[in-house]
Amino acid sequence: MRDPFGATEAPPALDTAQDALFLDFDGCLVEIAPRPDAICVPDRLGLGLAALAARLDGALAIVSGRSLRELEHYLAGFDGPMVGSHGAESRGLGEAPLRPEGLLALQAELAEFAAQKGLLYEPKSLGAGLHFRARPELQAETEAFAARAALRFPGFEVQLAKMAVELRPRGASKDGALARLTRRAPFAGRRPVYAGDDVTDEPALAWAEAHGGYGVKVGPGDTAASYRLGAPDQVRAWLARPLGEDAWDV
Ligand SMILES: [Mg+2]
Repeated sequence: MRDPFGATEAPPALDTAQDALFLDFDGCLVEIAPRPDAICVPDRLGLGLAALAARLDGALAIVSGRSLRELEHYLAGFDGPMVGSHGAESRGLGEAPLRPEGLLALQAELAEFAAQKGLLYEPKSLGAGLHFRARPELQAETEAFAARAALRFPGFEVQLAKMAVELRPRGASKDGALARLTRRAPFAGRRPVYAGDDVTDEPALAWAEAHGGYGVKVGPGDTAASYRLGAPDQVRAWLARPLGEDAWDV
């Protein structure tokens, strides 16, 4: 039975000869943790992605809201393209990062708000996040604060996320990153396949669907994607299958 949110089917097996694969990180490759630095990363993940990328002739990129340096840390062993900070910075693509004015002042304001309210503050290389997972009753107040901050720091805009709100460089987006990546080798001419779990991924899932490929929504929630996997362990099993490997377990 189809659920009211649309996509329920597991995706088809990856076609390594023609797919270009774009993968979100948190909630897609690894389970969301109570704190962003408390995730469990399977030992095999980085090297497994490297092996899969080789099968795809290099057409595999990570597209995440995390800072690039954190992605590099957690995915050691994978040296392919990475897009971090929701598209504002990248590795291996020869792109200059977006560096809006006022980053340090913005971070100081968010850190102070977090300290006052008992929220978890997450500094990011090109922005900052406020996590209200421990104080969900403060969601509306936190989002309103972030919206006011974005008015004072026009180089940044609000990005809503799971139990968090972020300020990220204005104009950065995962679908924008996908549009840029798919114009260049080795992604160009391949079928875009995007997997992600969060509202920040929806424009990218929709972009893949609209450009001859497909999206894979991870976990519950409404989506533009045609396919769905229940959790990151299922994503890892789907990625390991073309290599004839078992799921890359934690
Ligand atoms: Mg995610």
